Amino acid sequence: MLGLYIHVPFCAKICDYCDFHAFPAPEWLKLEYLDLVSREVSVFAERHPGVFSRVETLYVGGGTPSMLTPDQMARFFGIFSAAGLDFGRLKEATFEFNPESCDGERLAVARECGITRASLGLQSLHQHLLDRVGRHHDVQTGKRALDLLLSRKNLRVNADLMFDLPGQTLNELLEDVEWLAGSGVGHISLYGLKVDPTRRLGIRVSKGLETIDEDLYAEMYLKSVETLEKCGFSRYETSNFARGGEESLHNLNYWNRGEYLAFGPSAHGFYEGVRFYAPERYAKWREYVKNGCPREGLTLDSLTPEDVAAEYVQLSLRTKYGMRLQTLENLGFRAPDAVLEKWVSEGFAELSEGVFRLVGKGWIFMDTVVLDIYSKME
Ligand code: SF4
Repeated sequence: MLGLYIHVPFCAKICDYCDFHAFPAPEWLKLEYLDLVSREVSVFAERHPGVFSRVETLYVGGGTPSMLTPDQMARFFGIFSAAGLDFGRLKEATFEFNPESCDGERLAVARECGITRASLGLQSLHQHLLDRVGRHHDVQTGKRALDLLLSRKNLRVNADLMFDLPGQTLNELLEDVEWLAGSGVGHISLYGLKVDPTRRLGIRVSKGLETIDEDLYAEMYLKSVETLEKCGFSRYETSNFARGGEESLHNLNYWNRGEYLAFGPSAHGFYEGVRFYAPERYAKWREYVKNGCPREGLTLDSLTPEDVAAEYVQLSLRTKYGMRLQTLENLGFRAPDAVLEKWVSEGFAELSEGVFRLVGKGWIFMDTVVLDIYSKME
């Protein structure tokens, strides 16, 4: 399956923990961005005739794509139609909204242009927590945005929640999880806060002005999973939970090592066996596009057979579908029985019908299990 990801790098205000490429932008810069994306997309279409007509899933992420005005959004979608993307053929088309810029007009444009799934950056339903991590929106705006999205027929809705926020209690998190699970959304992404020491929140933590109870991380995660499962959501990836049929096809394609095109600053894609990374900073990306998108302007990663096998181990274990030992063997590698048996006997994983998958606390120690298998693969 071929996916398409586009990075829109604008945010009204930068959250204190953010490590994405995002920044507040004046109108002229957003217009310039649209011109540049249009050039980047048409160069790619010229080099790969017909490629856009093969795309099956679309994901517009950021940053905050809904920072584009309705007119800019219409122009944005037009760029991809002009390149040959058939919105009617897409199995899924997701657009990310942040609460402060989620309104009826933008939603109408998104729907008219073929968006079938909305993802809302809710993060928390407790004002003091939103304030402590420097989110731009308040709880009321978040709930209003969610109501708006849920009021539209035939629109699938995801909402993001975060946990292990500074000052967050287990009860506060579980209240949010339960409320959101009962709100009508079909999909919830639940992420643990990662503290980057170079960002405002990280600096406050390193100065002792803010504390994060890392000991709560595992309990918060496991209890949230329990609550979500009781509410009818199934964990299909370590951070992603869905009611039946609501799984994100676009993201599943990533975890299945499917190919995807990518445009915009810092976007990365996977095409014809090569992982590629666009320049991360906007100014560098602008220069790259203005120079005609030379291939040497991208960071390219051609995968060796070992890389492919390592990716397979890492990505497959993120999902509930697990790692097929036969698939690994088809890639030319095998995981020693003793390594797999150790994780099974310790209660971190199960092995059934040739599929090794994480269970229980194995999800918390996923990176350790992956590294162990990867480093001992033969
Ligand atoms: S909304 Fe997301 S991308 Fe924008 S600043 Fe906050 S964390 Fe970063």
